[in-house]
Amino acid sequence: MGKIPTGEAFRQRFGNPHAVIHRVDVHLSLLEGAQETGRSNFTSTRMERVEQDDTGVTVFDQKGQAHRGLALIGADGVKSVLRAQYVNDPPRITGHVVYRAVVDRADFPENLQWNAASIWVGPNCHLVHYPLRGGEQYNVVVTFNSRKQEEWGVTEGSKEEVQSYFQGICPKARQLIDLPKSWKRWATADREPIGQWSFGRTTLLGDAAHPTTQYMAQGACMALEDAVTLGEALRVNGNDFVKAFDLYQRSRVARTARIVLSGREMGRIYHAKGVERLVRNELWKGRSPERFYDAMEWLYGWNVKNCLAPGAA
Ligand SMILES: Cc1cc2nc3c(=O)[nH]c(=O)nc-3n(C[C@H](O)[C@H](O)[C@H](O)COP(=O)(O)OP(=O)(O)OC[C@H]3O[C@@H](n4cnc5c(N)ncnc54)[C@H](O)[C@@H]3O)c2cc1C
Repeated sequence: MGKIPTGEAFRQRFGNPHAVIHRVDVHLSLLEGAQETGRSNFTSTRMERVEQDDTGVTVFDQKGQAHRGLALIGADGVKSVLRAQYVNDPPRITGHVVYRAVVDRADFPENLQWNAASIWVGPNCHLVHYPLRGGEQYNVVVTFNSRKQEEWGVTEGSKEEVQSYFQGICPKARQLIDLPKSWKRWATADREPIGQWSFGRTTLLGDAAHPTTQYMAQGACMALEDAVTLGEALRVNGNDFVKAFDLYQRSRVARTARIVLSGREMGRIYHAKGVERLVRNELWKGRSPERFYDAMEWLYGWNVKNCLAPGAA
């Protein structure tokens, strides 16, 4: 068993707490921020194609309506239309399937109501659980290597399928997979990291720029870091979009590629079996918090003061 303290010692080391948050709460904050700008927000509007010239960008939606602006940030997720138009690279289907559910405290086992992100690993599978909203709810996430050919996408899950992958794991962990009343099922994919996201007055952000597997639990965190970095890049370039998009890209490509590549490696380590599993256990057993922190410095040592590539301004 390995333990990484995420309380005061973590805060002292990295200047921030280690926190988890319900996805809906992130969405609401973003919506409130967008509404505060007083600008138009369109829902149910699908961007289909983009044109740009020296003075701006025009986006055409599914109804053929044109929307004109000075620049475009394509934060349109793993199946980004903007990325397809400028990069058009294929996804890499992992064959790893994730099931997720949120369980109310009343239904969650008392002996697992820990105020910590916890992970149980086994051959070809792992389980994660952590409290949300001060422990009112618990997020349950289970992952396994699928036996069948997978296609990238999200569907309704089945209890029977999850159960069939978690035979023979310890009962304390196994009780988690019997809890949820309904599951969502993600057949996951990522893409090879790319060195160019910015194309003139357009750029990519979040999963559109660097879709990753979930093993580092950093996809949304990276999207938020992208946004902060982009804001800084615009600030130091006096809102010159072309220059700012270039600086933003230079500041973000290596870090986010490291997340994508580390995610693949963590997937292998978590799901190790046979002798590889013994090696994994040796690596983590008895490791001091300081050594874990040192290994995570590159990840959690990020902040707004060091977010821009050197020679930025
Ligand atoms: C199983 C799983 C577990 C995860 N766990 C974690 C975790 O623990 N921690 C973490 O940080 N991240 C995690 N992630 C990753 C996280 O969900 C993503 O990285 C994050 O949602 C990316 O945000 P985004 O805004 O870039 O894209 P999205 O959240 O995908 O948002 C894209 C938006 O663009 C819209 N859109 C798409 N196409 C168009 C179009 N053509 N026109 C207009 N709008 C469009 C979509 O409707 C959507 O609203 C996980 C992901 C998965 C699948």
